[in-house]
Amino acid sequence: MSDVRDVIIIGGGPAGYTAALYTARANLRPLVIEGFNWGGQLMITSDVENYPGYADGVLGPAMMQDFRRQAERFGAEFVTDDVTRVDLSKRPFRVYVGNDEHLAETVIVATGATARQLGLESERVLQGRGVSYCATCDAFFYRDKVVVVAGGGDSALEEASFITKFASKVYLVHRRDEFRASPIMVDRARTNEKIELVLNSVVEEVLGVEENKVTGVRLRNVATGETSELAADGFFVAIGHDPTTALFVDQLDHDENGYLVTRGKSTETNIPGVFAAGDVQDHVYRQAVTAAGSGCAAALDAERFLAAERHKAVAATTPRS
Ligand code: NAP
Repeated sequence: MSDVRDVIIIGGGPAGYTAALYTARANLRPLVIEGFNWGGQLMITSDVENYPGYADGVLGPAMMQDFRRQAERFGAEFVTDDVTRVDLSKRPFRVYVGNDEHLAETVIVATGATARQLGLESERVLQGRGVSYCATCDAFFYRDKVVVVAGGGDSALEEASFITKFASKVYLVHRRDEFRASPIMVDRARTNEKIELVLNSVVEEVLGVEENKVTGVRLRNVATGETSELAADGFFVAIGHDPTTALFVDQLDHDENGYLVTRGKSTETNIPGVFAAGDVQDHVYRQAVTAAGSGCAAALDAERFLAAERHKAVAATTPRS
């Protein structure tokens, strides 16, 4: 394909679509390779009540449709498929979808991260119906309710404590009797009257498939093999996240967990002209609104990068008087 785009955006979540909106409005004709399952993590959430501007709340998938439509309105184009390979070794950069080659002067990586799942069929079926991967997003819905949190890292402990602001009771289920979380987080959970630790245990089944909402979990004690049930209204899985960076880790700087590293407050990666936005480079905030903000920053960084390059090219061809 001979057409060299100003910008290709890889990823169709809040960061990718916001980068598309801004680059489209800057006349950069963005191509968004949004992934076969576009929409990102919001596609497995139900009500979003903390995205500014949606005063009455919005369903996660509907919000992603809105983001996409807004970018499309200004001329962003989309490929609804997965990128299979990238070559960032020289410009123009090459992005492949199977045998289709797409060329671009700049690339914005916005492939996000995925919350680790336990892998249970009942967990999948009840996503958005009581199974959640984000306490900041969903704890509010569990006022005076009973909640189970799975995990033993800082996220699980922090989320369990946070949920007690709303819920009447939180069971923290962890598969070992020692925590990966920092001691201060563990102390905080141990002294919180609303939290009950359930150790050496795994969630074997999420209950409530027939009712179409979480009604509890079935536990298995890994030391004794005994099973038991806990009645609950919500189940938060907090066993970590994985950034979607397999395509890039050989070419872009990343930390020990695979998150792409960006320079200072910018979205610049180690390769000039390649930018990273959203959860793929942020394991701290992980919110739709922060991802969108970072997508905007990447679009502005890409625009400035192209403008500077073009200015240099013009200066080089202008004869000195
Ligand atoms: P994490 O540290 O990787 O912990 C994941 C936890 O989930 C571990 O306890 C692990 O058990 C458990 N787990 C993993 N797979 C499981 C499975 N299939 N079934 C049951 N349990 C499973 O992830 P994280 O808690 O999200 O933290 C990620 C990073 O962010 C860490 O560096 C953390 O310190 C940091 N963080 C910091 C803060 C803070 O400082 N405020 C808050 C959140 C996160 P095992 O322990 O048995 O492996």
